[in-house]
Amino acid sequence: MTLFAKILDFMLPPTCPICGAETSEHGMLCHECWDKFNWIGHPKCSVCGYPFPADLDLGPRPLCPVCAIGANELDWIRSACVYDDWSKSIMLPFKHAGKIKYQKIMARAMISLLREFPDISSDLVVIPVPLAYRRLWKRGYNQATLLARPIAKHLGVRTDYNSIWRKHKPNMGHMTARQRAENVRGVFKVIKPENIRGKNILLVDDVMTSGGTFKALRRVLKRAGANKVYGITFCRTVRAI
Ligand SMILES: [Zn+2]
Ligand SMILES: [Zn+2]
Repeated sequence: MTLFAKILDFMLPPTCPICGAETSEHGMLCHECWDKFNWIGHPKCSVCGYPFPADLDLGPRPLCPVCAIGANELDWIRSACVYDDWSKSIMLPFKHAGKIKYQKIMARAMISLLREFPDISSDLVVIPVPLAYRRLWKRGYNQATLLARPIAKHLGVRTDYNSIWRKHKPNMGHMTARQRAENVRGVFKVIKPENIRGKNILLVDDVMTSGGTFKALRRVLKRAGANKVYGITFCRTVRAI
C-alpha cells in the first residue's frame, strides 16, 4: 500500500474488509461477516485444540484420542477457526492474491488464542512456517510471516526467519494426508542450529490440514536441540478422529 493510499484509508470511515459495511475500527470485520466463521471454542483437546461437540462435559483438561495416547504432533496447537468455504474465501486471497488487508483480522483471532498458551518463557522464539525460495520470489511475501510478526510482538519475543530452509516441492493442495506426509519428508532443514538449540519454538502458519507440515518441522527442530515445539494457525481442517 502506498503512503497516499494509507493516508486515504485512515481518513475514510472504517469498513469491513470483506463486505465493505461500516465498522468501528480499520481492518476489523462487521458482525455479519464475523459470525460466518466457524470459530473454535470449548470444549477442545487441551493439547492439539481438536474441537469436541459443544454439549460434552469433558472436565478441565480434555484430551482427544490421539493426544490421550501421547501421539500428539506438537506440545500445543491452536487454530482460530475451522477451514471451510468461508474461511477459505479469506485465507486463499490472503495467501495467493496479496490481500494483506485480511492480516489484521487473522492475526487478532490468533492472538486471542494465546490466552491459553502455556509458555511465556524468554527462551521462546516465533517462527513462521517457511516458504521455498522459489515460491517466495513468485509470491513476493510469506503469508505466515505476516501473521507471525504481530503474534511475536504481542508475546514480546523474537521472530526467526532464517534458521530453517525449505526445499521446493509441488503444491500439496489436492493431496491425501498420506501423500502430504510423503511430500514434506526431507523438505525442511535447520541451517542455523545455534538459533534453535535449547529454545521453545512457536510455529505460525495460516492453515493446518493434515498436520504433516508441523510434524516434519518438529522432527528437524527437535533434532537441532529444540525444547518444546508449539503451533498456531488461523484455520484448520476438522475431520473425525
Ligand atoms: Zn462484513
Ligand atoms: Zn489432541
